[in-house]
Amino acid sequence: MAIDFTVPDNVIMQAQMVKFIAETTMRPYARQLDENEHERPTAFVEQMWPILKEQQRASLERLEKPSSSESGDGEKKKKVSTQYLRLMVMVEMMAWGDAGIYLCLPAAALGGAAIEAVGTKEQKIRLLSRFAEGEQPVWGAMAITEPGAGSDNSAMATTAEFDEETNEWVLNGEKIFITSGKLALEESNGLVIVWATVNKAAGRAGIKPFVVEAGTPGVSIGKVEIKHGIRASDTAAIVFNNARIPADNILGSPEVQASKEDKGFKGAMATFDASRPLVAASALGVGRAALEFLKEKLAENGIDIPYNQPYHKLTAIQRDVLEAEAAMKAAHLLTLRSVAMLDEGLHNSLEASMAKVKAGRASTFAAQKAVELLGAMGYSREWLAEKWMRDSKIAMIYEGTDQINTLIIARRILGYTRHELS
Ligand SMILES: Cc1cc2nc3c(=O)[nH]c(=O)nc-3n(C[C@H](O)[C@H](O)[C@H](O)COP(=O)(O)OP(=O)(O)OC[C@H]3O[C@@H](n4cnc5c(N)ncnc54)[C@H](O)[C@@H]3O)c2cc1C
Repeated sequence: MAIDFTVPDNVIMQAQMVKFIAETTMRPYARQLDENEHERPTAFVEQMWPILKEQQRASLERLEKPSSSESGDGEKKKKVSTQYLRLMVMVEMMAWGDAGIYLCLPAAALGGAAIEAVGTKEQKIRLLSRFAEGEQPVWGAMAITEPGAGSDNSAMATTAEFDEETNEWVLNGEKIFITSGKLALEESNGLVIVWATVNKAAGRAGIKPFVVEAGTPGVSIGKVEIKHGIRASDTAAIVFNNARIPADNILGSPEVQASKEDKGFKGAMATFDASRPLVAASALGVGRAALEFLKEKLAENGIDIPYNQPYHKLTAIQRDVLEAEAAMKAAHLLTLRSVAMLDEGLHNSLEASMAKVKAGRASTFAAQKAVELLGAMGYSREWLAEKWMRDSKIAMIYEGTDQINTLIIARRILGYTRHELS
């Protein structure tokens, strides 16, 4: 695979626009929304909804209309996409503005990624249209985690039973820690992709994705979390009590032993292949914010970071900053690689996990160093350094903890199965 480090002009222009948004509707509200966890970033949402709606509409149009890259003789010209590169740059910039506010983007989000990964064309058009129209913003979410099933998804206890008389699926169980769960189901006409088992004895093969739409009877929001970081983000439990959804709101096949094309629980993994690089990008944004601020404050105190000095001539502070910057740079390159592979349509599970682990660790290290090197003021709520330290940690927890992603990396490199290395 050829590696090209040039970021196209249109992506740079888009990044500049997002930088303006980050500076005007994110950073100025960062502290306020951190102090008042369940307030909503209204200015940001109002600014983003028309933009995201338009993007979703264009994407649906591409899906509905025959590809214009198809030549007269029907042969497809291969056009390299920059879709994920663009997303990576945007997400990094927004997380630089504020990682919690970024997670409040009114969009299909992880729910959309699951629909894209597993849904049929008809389902994509039917389900994603709500994110492309209307005055009111709409949110999507994805629910896998349960009180008894976090890293070990095979322990999932939420059930989906088919009622032949009414031609409906009946869902029972509870999902916890769902990002934008309340926004999707209570505060907008959104949807949540809920993973549930149709046959517990079948383990992972029995786990299927179901679309639960806002307003479904039997669905309620449970505990709304009070968190350590990314406090602007909505994190809620969702309870299913005989919740009935239409038969065609299952994504993919209902069969446990489905055909090869049916992705089943592998669909969740395909969703993560696309979303983990973006978690990495958000971590990079937080780490960059912390490092930039640290360097600015050090410079105000007469401490510059030299890039042309041998190691033994550097002070401990300079070494720490350079170490943090090097880790961030390495994570940035890995993240670029994982999105370049996505854009080329290559299988990137290994690189997606690597990027997420590396970026989570690099940004956590950078934010911790910022707090440490800034002393008491680093610890004070007057500055955002302590907040970045709290915000950075989430990249090591959601969408597979560091330990789980490290296991995935080890399995892929060493050629072990899930059972051989768990
Ligand atoms: C803010 C926030 C937002 C979230 N958003 C969502 C969401 O939108 N949708 C959703 O479905 N979930 C979401 N989650 C849940 C998140 O994905 C889980 O918390 C995560 O997968 C870990 O599961 P757990 O909390 O049950 O921890 P556990 O699985 O109980 O793990 C506890 C510890 O044990 C370690 N561990 C577990 N198994 C192994 C192993 N085999 N080898 C080595 N170590 C292991 C873990 O790495 C971790 O350190 C969110 C969580 C948070 C905090």
